[in-house]
Amino acid sequence: MGTTPALFIGHGNPMNAIEPSRYADAWYELGQRIGTPRAIVCVSAHWFIGATAVTAMSAPRTIHDFYGFPQELFEVRYPAPGSPELAEEIIDAVQPTWCGRDEDSWGLDHGTWSVLRRMYPDASVPVVQVSVDATKSVHDHVALGAQLAPLRDRGVLVVASGNIVHNLRMVQWSAGDTGFEWAHNFDDAARDILTTDPSRFGALEDHAAYHAASPTPDHFWPAAYLAGLASASGETCRVEIEGYVAGSLSMTSYSLGLPEA
Ligand code: ZN
Repeated sequence: MGTTPALFIGHGNPMNAIEPSRYADAWYELGQRIGTPRAIVCVSAHWFIGATAVTAMSAPRTIHDFYGFPQELFEVRYPAPGSPELAEEIIDAVQPTWCGRDEDSWGLDHGTWSVLRRMYPDASVPVVQVSVDATKSVHDHVALGAQLAPLRDRGVLVVASGNIVHNLRMVQWSAGDTGFEWAHNFDDAARDILTTDPSRFGALEDHAAYHAASPTPDHFWPAAYLAGLASASGETCRVEIEGYVAGSLSMTSYSLGLPEA
């Protein structure tokens, strides 16, 4: 079967799930290029809690973890099955880190479904979601990502969903699809590392623009999982999608082990 690719997706505005956009088109194209995996593990910025956990229910619910959006977005369901078996594989893979088995509290949040609804519209591939542990360090997250590497040899697509630059306080809608200078500086530094030596990902927290780019690390840390997977397999990441939103969000997305379009 070979090694399955892995992705980091900059998901941005939840409206990308329902409104036509070049990001939605790009996510669809990624799904076409990857083909149908056995299952999907999604590390979501929006499940930022005090532990590593995995959804272990057989039918995870669709969670609408936002407000102030049109009713149409609240009506979206992504009825992909879960995979209690895959949840167990993840719990084993990350040992000795304790990974909570979530049977009834969370589900698939929009970090996951806004992207997967475009990649795999028919929702037939089983999906489990993994949390981002707020109490761990960036280095811990890189190490956890590396521990997920064996899943790629078992047909599992790992998707990490966040944004490399994500500062909602500094959003300036008049900036349109441009990025502030500091946003470019940080996004470029992340690109240098992910495309040449992903094992150095943690060094980004020392970058001068880190605190502007990532005032809270929930959207940044998912990329550490792709960096860890890349270090584990000795590969480098490739940029798949680029773009900025409102000055202070970058949409840069990366693949690992995926042949070029
Ligand atoms: Zn988000």
